[in-house]
Parts: sequence; structure tokens; C-alpha cells
Amino acid sequence: MLLSSRVKGIHDSITMKLNEKSQQLNDEGKVIYNLSGGQLPIKPLPEFVEKIHHQLNFLKSYQYSPSSGFLPLRKKLIKHLAESRDLSMDLLEGSWDCILSNGSKHSIYNALGALIDPGDEVILLAPYWVSYPEMVKFWGGIPNVVKSNVFDAFVPAIEDLHKVMTPRTKAIIVNSPNNPSGVHYSESWMREFCLFLKQYPDLVVISDEVYSEISYFDPKPSYFYQYDNSLLSRTVIIQAISKSLASTGLRLGYAMAPKGVISAMSRIQGQTTSGANSLIQRALMDFDLKYVEPFLVPVRNHIRLNAAFLREKFREANLGHCWYQSTSAFYFMLDFSRTPMFKRFSPDEDHSYEISDELLNNEGVAVVPGVDFGIPNTARIALVIEEIPFQEALTKIVRYLNRT
Ligand code: PLP
Repeated sequence: MLLSSRVKGIHDSITMKLNEKSQQLNDEGKVIYNLSGGQLPIKPLPEFVEKIHHQLNFLKSYQYSPSSGFLPLRKKLIKHLAESRDLSMDLLEGSWDCILSNGSKHSIYNALGALIDPGDEVILLAPYWVSYPEMVKFWGGIPNVVKSNVFDAFVPAIEDLHKVMTPRTKAIIVNSPNNPSGVHYSESWMREFCLFLKQYPDLVVISDEVYSEISYFDPKPSYFYQYDNSLLSRTVIIQAISKSLASTGLRLGYAMAPKGVISAMSRIQGQTTSGANSLIQRALMDFDLKYVEPFLVPVRNHIRLNAAFLREKFREANLGHCWYQSTSAFYFMLDFSRTPMFKRFSPDEDHSYEISDELLNNEGVAVVPGVDFGIPNTARIALVIEEIPFQEALTKIVRYLNRT
């Protein structure tokens, strides 16, 4: 059957593919250290699960919600945004709305669909989440990438943003804390970003904040619109329960933005999925978000410990030049390009697939090739598995990196 040219341009999700391959090797009896995961390996907090149980009793939990989601929940999430970002409700009440979607990936699709015309350019900051370029292309947009490197802890320089601006630049996606680098951009970066935005009054910002609650290194993440409230009028904020409530499979995410954008997104959603999962929306509506903070304390401590082990291991193995301080989310970008092992490869091409394959086949460690995050010759590792297997996996990685 002849497929559409649109779908031919879309790549498979590499993380999904890798999980399949690791599972297959596991089934063949091999010990696999899976550092490729993008989710917390724990169950959601009991208070939330209890609310889901409770909502099972009601007819409405099984019926369509309004396309944008239940209104009390949308209001609650906007209020929560105002409280958690220290914004006055006056800035949002009446002018902002929220839309619940089937995961925040879906919210980002809807936002791009509402904003992008074919040929419009969208700035992505590499390393970026693998799905951004695919989503931009799906709507006919053109990704315009600004790179960063390990020496700057993968934080892009604002001056480089000016260089990619063209009359067709419509939006920029900022993801802090960042998947895959595991860092969040500092207050000074955000302040400088405000000044940059002031020079381009038509540029829209999609601020993907799905990891905002998972940071284990002070100061905590903050956002440009907190330093200049006027920028809220061209900001779309993306949030989810996937990471902070350890609920990736429940598929509930949301976007908050000025009303006009949300109503456009709602039109797209109304003609595609009709709306998000009613049961989970109702459970979230009933759930006290104050429980999230204590739930995440041991999670952060665990990631911090694994990150500290990584630092020590790299220092001991003379790989200090591959290290930077990760601060948030639950990832770290391994830069292969200056390790002894890399002498076998030519530096002018990308070998991240080859190297990740070797790591999986020879050492039993699954990582995600970094080229799909926009940085060649790197890989993403997740810092979430249990301490002992994490340490064993890192010992194997370090041995591999130092082998010529
Ligand atoms: N944004 C970022 C940066 C992510 O890493 C992910 C998932 O890994 C998502 C959005 C989408 O999450 P979900 O669709 O589960 O809400």
C-alpha cells in the first residue's frame, strides 16, 4: 500500500525500539542493565492510586469528558501553576486556560498543530527530547537546531539563538529540566532568555516543564516568565503526571496557555482523540497535589546518589573530562568522543548507534544513542535503576570506555 509522504518522514521512537531489544536479550537469558528507560521504576503514590479506586464507582468516570478536560481540574491546575511559580492569579485568571491530553506528548502535538504553518521554523535546543523534531516535521514545520556541548554542561548559549532566527521562525521549544542532559537552565540563563525574547516580539515559547519537580541540586528550576510576566502572553506551558506522579502509562498530560491557543488546541483534540482519560482526570481532580513533594524526596535522593557515584567512577577512571554536574530529571549524557575507546572511530561521523550496540551486545548495558537527541557520538543513560545494578552497569561502561 502506498504510504503518505508525511509518515515516510517520521522516524520510529528509538527508546521504544531499544526497550524491545533489551527485553528480547533478557528473554534469551542474558543479564541486561537497562539504562535506556524514560520512567521512574516505582508505583505511583498510594494517595493517588486510592483516588483512582474511588473514581471507579462513578458512571462519569467511564464517559467522555469535555474535549479540553473537566473544568474544575483545568482551574485547579492553573491555580497550582500560579502557586508553584509564584505568579499572581491575576496574571492567569480569565486570560489563561488548560487542556488535558493523552500524555504531554499529545499536548505538544496539539500546540504545534495550533501554531505552525508549513514552512514555519521552530528552534530546538540540542540536546533535545527525541520527539520534538518529528513532531515539528509532522505539522510541516522545519526544526532549526542550536547545539551545546559537554563543556557547558549541555546548556546552549543565548547568543547562538540569535544566529538561527529568520523571518520564518515561529516558535522555540525550551525543555528545562532537560531530557536527555539532566540539567536545568539557571536563573541567569532564564533572565538572558527574557532579553532575547524581547527582541523578537512574535516568537512563541513552548516551555516543556514535565520534569520541573524532579531536581536534586539547588537552586531549583525557575522560568523566564517568572522574571518577566509580560512574556506569559506568548508562552505555552507543558506539564504531565508521567514523571512527577510516576504514571507514564496512565497517559495524562496538559498544556496551559492564553485562551486563544488552548481553544485552537481543543479543536484539534476534539477531532482526533475527543479528549483525555476521564477516570484519571477525575482522580487527579480529587487528589491533593501536596502529596507529590514528599513522594519525590526519596526519588531525588536516589538519583542524587547515583549521580554522585557516576562522578566518582569517572574521576577514578580518568574520565573526568566526560563529566558535568547533572542537576535534575533523571538522565546523563555520556560523551564518547574523548574517551580511549573512541580512537577506533572517525571523529567526523556519528557512531552513537554502533557504540550503543557494542555496549549492549558486549557489556549487556542498554543506553540510548545520542544522535537522535541532536548530539553525535553520545548516549543517554538513565540514573533511576537500583543502586547496586546501577553501580555494576557503570563499572561495565567505564571499562568499555577505557578499552582501546
Ligand atoms: N517532554 C519530555 C521532555 C519528555 O521527556 C517526555 C517523555 O519522556 C514527554 C514530554 C512526554 O511525556 P508524556 O507524554 O508521558 O506526558
